[in-house]
Amino acid sequence: MLVFEKSRPGRGISALPECDVDIYTLPDEDMRETDLHLPEMAEVDLSRHYTELAKKAHGVNDGFYPLGSCTMKYNPKVNEKTASFDEFTQIHPLQPEHTVQGCLQVIKETEESLAEITGMSNFTLQPAAGAHGEFTGLLLIKAYHLANGDTKRKKIIVPDSAHGTNPASAVMAGMDVINVDSTPEGLVDVAKLREVCEGNDEIAGLMLTNPNTAGLFDPNIKEITDIIHECGGQCYYDGANLNAIMGWARPGDMGFDCVHLNLHKTFSTPHGGGGPGSGPVGCKEHLAKFMPGLTVEGEEGSLAFAKASESLGEMKNFYGNFLVVVKALTYIKMLGKQGIPEASKNAVLNANYMMNKLSAKYDIAFNPKVCMHEFVMDIARQAKETGVTAMDIAKGLLDNNIHPPTMYFPLTVHEALMAEPCETESKETLDEAIKVFLELNDLAYSDPEALHAAPVKTPVTRLDEVGAARHPVLKYEFE
Ligand SMILES: *Cc1c(COP(=O)(O)O)cnc(C)c1O
Repeated sequence: MLVFEKSRPGRGISALPECDVDIYTLPDEDMRETDLHLPEMAEVDLSRHYTELAKKAHGVNDGFYPLGSCTMKYNPKVNEKTASFDEFTQIHPLQPEHTVQGCLQVIKETEESLAEITGMSNFTLQPAAGAHGEFTGLLLIKAYHLANGDTKRKKIIVPDSAHGTNPASAVMAGMDVINVDSTPEGLVDVAKLREVCEGNDEIAGLMLTNPNTAGLFDPNIKEITDIIHECGGQCYYDGANLNAIMGWARPGDMGFDCVHLNLHKTFSTPHGGGGPGSGPVGCKEHLAKFMPGLTVEGEEGSLAFAKASESLGEMKNFYGNFLVVVKALTYIKMLGKQGIPEASKNAVLNANYMMNKLSAKYDIAFNPKVCMHEFVMDIARQAKETGVTAMDIAKGLLDNNIHPPTMYFPLTVHEALMAEPCETESKETLDEAIKVFLELNDLAYSDPEALHAAPVKTPVTRLDEVGAARHPVLKYEFE
């Protein structure tokens, strides 16, 4: 039941503080013509309403959430505490710099930490999400080529295993996407890449995720970035999932020129509910003069905003989703130089533990010996032998209080279930999940109908997902 349906006239209360400024009445033409529909409820009923809704959802606080490529790790509560300090929440972006030195310090230290973690020289915290960061990075590459008078460079190479946002961002940045197929091992086909690049003066660059969406680290990475540089292109690193390598390997050392990170994945800001996120972009020195937005310069106590000399403009107002930045810096400071690589190590260990246990019954796409932070199961064999698909297994997991892995992605694996357990899960949780996965495989062979019918224990059962996507009902119609 919606909050509007529970509303009863006269039941609401408003307890506003007394107005301490002059009351200003808007001119008639700026006033609403009809009353605003606000639900009227007692506080207790409202509180119960939202608690009931929260119980219907599944989050990292409810149970295992191995959604691949999303890094649904546990977000330490201390992050929320620092992000709720008045000194961060009650500021105005146009306040004089000397009154917000602490906030500037947060920005500066975050920029510096991220630069150190990725091997970049500069960072902007403006972009609001991963895809927004990709778009920003591509604009940097574009600005660089244009400044060199290289107007022909409009083609960007994106491997077929890329996250869907990569080609989309490239098109938005006015580039033409060249798709390069992967090898049977799921890696970049270096010979094909060479073929596309050699003597080609229209290549703007390459967009790559490493480890890629199948959780595989490309051992040819240095050769790949060299090929792009040799033909005059720039290398963009999609660092949305830095969980596998932070503290161990740096995109900058792999030869990348710019990178985005998802603070709302690796750096432990809650996500999945639609935001706010943050997709900072880092670059090497030769791209720094084009950076968008404001950066912070100077010494502690006399910090000031500065703008890059040929800045491409603003990607978002002021300095992005600042409180997300506060959470990320809290996380980085809490873990420190020892904790960051340890988190990665455990993320990779957990993924390999699960992959190895599940490989008893599930085919692992590309059959890697080791994976990084995630791995992809291929349900094609079960689908052929029993009719049970990746979708059916996912629905069966829901009945066991486990959020399904990412389904039908990467596109190169047709019945894909991509699992990312994350470092924050205990061995007991992993063992329990492994048991459920193995039981569901057995169920596929003994009683496939049961899996076609799942889920049966959730607040809603099988949904018309196509209908929801094609004809979404996004607002309540009052009678
Ligand atoms: C999540 C993700 C993105 C997109 O990030 P958003 O914040 O959802 O825009 C891009 N690339 C990869 C590899 C991702 O996992």
